[in-house]
Amino acid sequence: MTVRTRADLDQLPGYVPGRTIPGAIKLASNEVSPGPLPSVVEAITQAAAGVNRYPDNSAAALVSRLATWLDVDADRIAVGCGSVSLCQQLVQATCTEADEVIFGWRSFEAYPIITQVVGARQRRVALRPGHRLDLEAMAAAVTPATRLVFVCSPNNPTGPAVRRDELDRFLDAVPPDVLVVLDEAYHEFVTDPEVPDGVELTRRRDNVAVLRTFSKAYGLAGLRVGYCVAAPPVAEAVRRVYVPFSLNSVAQVAALASLDAHDELMARCREVIGERERVRGELLAAGFEVPETQANFVWLPLGEATDRFNEHCLERKVIVRAFLGDGARVTIGTPEENDAFLAAARAF
Ligand SMILES: *Cc1c(COP(=O)(O)O)cnc(C)c1O
Repeated sequence: MTVRTRADLDQLPGYVPGRTIPGAIKLASNEVSPGPLPSVVEAITQAAAGVNRYPDNSAAALVSRLATWLDVDADRIAVGCGSVSLCQQLVQATCTEADEVIFGWRSFEAYPIITQVVGARQRRVALRPGHRLDLEAMAAAVTPATRLVFVCSPNNPTGPAVRRDELDRFLDAVPPDVLVVLDEAYHEFVTDPEVPDGVELTRRRDNVAVLRTFSKAYGLAGLRVGYCVAAPPVAEAVRRVYVPFSLNSVAQVAALASLDAHDELMARCREVIGERERVRGELLAAGFEVPETQANFVWLPLGEATDRFNEHCLERKVIVRAFLGDGARVTIGTPEENDAFLAAARAF
């Protein structure tokens, strides 16, 4: 006799991580290519000597540092084991089976998985031309059962970010008891001045939660640290469903050291932004459709040709993230890595 698990487990889509192949260039997971800064490695090494102890469950030093850094009260911050965990905590804290989560589609592939794990219903709202979130349609999709709406900005995997005017209109239209989660995983790569700062919005709107992460711009994807900024009752609800000690002690120290090295890390981001513009320009010149992007990746809406493009890049030892039948997302790497990708793309 086998163990009885949930009947719906087989229908759960698996999260597909970017592939890693020795010797190949990995542009599949939106990581930054250069390794951690020496100062961050040093802090990690020192923290390693203390791992016989449990981590600080409240991550007090990191929370207090983030509060000063963002100029918000500490009770408006919840930290977690990557912002994916915080996405799950937010859904767990707001939804049970009868409730509904709305998100654009295509958007971050963790949203449908998390929603299904929690057992809530999901509504996907098609993107509008330009591969942008359709905030008007998302507001119109809200029903009395809706508890949470994910707004991924910039949108992973397509690239555009939502602008101030459309977001304000959206937030005015959404009932104040529905939580809007602004997922700003790529915030540090945004250059469009019309894109609002989500943390600022949380000061005026009690139903907005902002998610940020140390995985992308800060280069700590392997350590798993993210944070949520929201009104105190929302932040408290997120903390209530936290898996104890899941934000480990090494990660807490590395996040602090990364904030210390902020200027150096932002200089790296500026290089990525410069490369993003170059890569997009060259792809457009080569005849590809490439939506505007405010993140550290480009989206190639190749439709049925996606599979063939993916295989073509793999043969040239470049790993992209293919969403079959839809498109390929390609992370901006170092200039050399990007050149290898561009050479492959031009030969397609
Ligand atoms: C990468 C990513 C995250 C996850 O970040 P972690 O902090 O590594 O869990 C969250 N949201 C979006 C949209 C992402 O692309």
